[in-house]
Amino acid sequence: MTKYIFITGGVVSSLGKGIVAASLGSILESRNLSISVIKLDPYINVDPGTMSPSQHGEVFVTYDGAETDLDLGHYERFINYKTSKSSNYTTGQIYDKVLKRERKGEYLGSTVQVIPHITDEIISNIKRGSFEKDICIVEIGGTVGDIESLPFIEAIRQMGVEYGKDLVSYIHLTLVPFIRVANEIKTKPTQHSVKELRSIGIQPDILVCRSEKIISNQDKKKIALFTNVEAKAVINSVDVDDIYEVPLLLHSQGLDNIIVEKLNLSCKKTSLEAWKKYKDKRNNLKKKISIKIIAKYGNYSESYKSLNEAVRHAGVNSGVNVEIDYVDAEKLEEKDNSLLENAGGIIVPGGFGGRGIEGKIKAIKYAREKNIPFLGICLGMQAAVIEFARNVCNLDNANSTEFDKNTEYPVIGLIEEWLDNTGSIEYRDINSNIGGTMRLGEQECMLEKDSNVFNAYKTKSVLERHRHRYEFNNEFRELLKKNGLIISGKSFDGTLVEVIELENHPWFLGCQFHPEFTSKPINGHPLFEAFVKSIRDYK
Ligand code: GLN
Repeated sequence: MTKYIFITGGVVSSLGKGIVAASLGSILESRNLSISVIKLDPYINVDPGTMSPSQHGEVFVTYDGAETDLDLGHYERFINYKTSKSSNYTTGQIYDKVLKRERKGEYLGSTVQVIPHITDEIISNIKRGSFEKDICIVEIGGTVGDIESLPFIEAIRQMGVEYGKDLVSYIHLTLVPFIRVANEIKTKPTQHSVKELRSIGIQPDILVCRSEKIISNQDKKKIALFTNVEAKAVINSVDVDDIYEVPLLLHSQGLDNIIVEKLNLSCKKTSLEAWKKYKDKRNNLKKKISIKIIAKYGNYSESYKSLNEAVRHAGVNSGVNVEIDYVDAEKLEEKDNSLLENAGGIIVPGGFGGRGIEGKIKAIKYAREKNIPFLGICLGMQAAVIEFARNVCNLDNANSTEFDKNTEYPVIGLIEEWLDNTGSIEYRDINSNIGGTMRLGEQECMLEKDSNVFNAYKTKSVLERHRHRYEFNNEFRELLKKNGLIISGKSFDGTLVEVIELENHPWFLGCQFHPEFTSKPINGHPLFEAFVKSIRDYK
């Protein structure tokens, strides 16, 4: 029977609950336990698909095409578990389901209320998303005390009562601030946060205290006393240089042993060799390379989370220290190319809408003409096609119909009907809803031999995740090919262009899919590694 670990947060947001959940999952997985992970988000949007990455961070795409919270990316990078549509629930989704049921008359006669109808819906979704693994880790977004997260907290409290102590454990993450002038850490916010959690009926079993400075055993004891948690269960998550050190840090303080004891788990010993090796490799990087990412969503580290991580994984796995420099696409529109100087490689990532697109196209022209290794992802590939059409094929003002509906040369356009991987026909047109109508999730892509993409993956067919509405317009295929564009990847039936490359360029590749979502620190990702190596070995 599945045992549950619920992770809540207190004091402030952004304490790294997702990293703790993912790290704990990874440690327990190393003990031969099967793991599933769920994120509950208190906002009203049905999913984050329509939210700006600048505000909410990256939208992570699961293999089955759900647009989800970026924490799911952490789970997949740390744990060998593929998240899915059943791994992320929002308040909006829960209410949507309850309201649909109410309209069907399924609650006929009763008044539909937060308790029990909304909470029951939350509980049944958690149970479904557990996939009957040994352990299901459930992270609750937001901070304890927020109005929005109350139904979720109430639901996990009820699950504790229903299942009993052997099957459910609660971890609470707090901040222990360091007051510089007094040269002291402060435990009071943690005490208050636990008090808040207890007022809703949950006594945490374990506290994970985030801090800038190491928390002494004496302070751990003090926290334990005031919060009614065992002293050994007060774990210190002190700031580290690299998030992939967190499994080692948490294990060194016995976090997994406490869980194993509490939930009465029979499992083998912990083995974190892979993380130790990763740390060693990361501490021994020799050459330094620089990559410029032409971005448009502010708060870069969050908006481009998976991309950042994928580039770093490739760096570590290729023995190079990658310096990532974000260049604002809009600034590039106004300025000369000095912002691109010293770029070892250039990445144009995914994005939506016309803001900054001319800056991206300018950077691609620079990479093409100056022979700088280039990787274009989704919108980045589309922009590379536009640049090639305009500047090599002389199709003046060629564009995507996303940015110019009446362009004379719509080299990127809306494909209204297509066959998806599963064999079903999908439709969309300009009147379709914006939310949930994209080509989403894992799709098969066939690779041409003797291309950069084939040499990277070393296989004829790959499954990669998609999230886009527009496609390469096949009416222009022949013309662009005649001028030197290589189409090296196509959808499984050959109808959609998936990968483009250039003749006579050291390494220039645009892909319609998002390889960053499947890169893991331990294994890296073939495409990012090939890109980073092309920069490393550039003469
Ligand atoms: N805006 C483009 C489209 O919808 C690209 C999307 C993306 O980069 N993810 O097709």
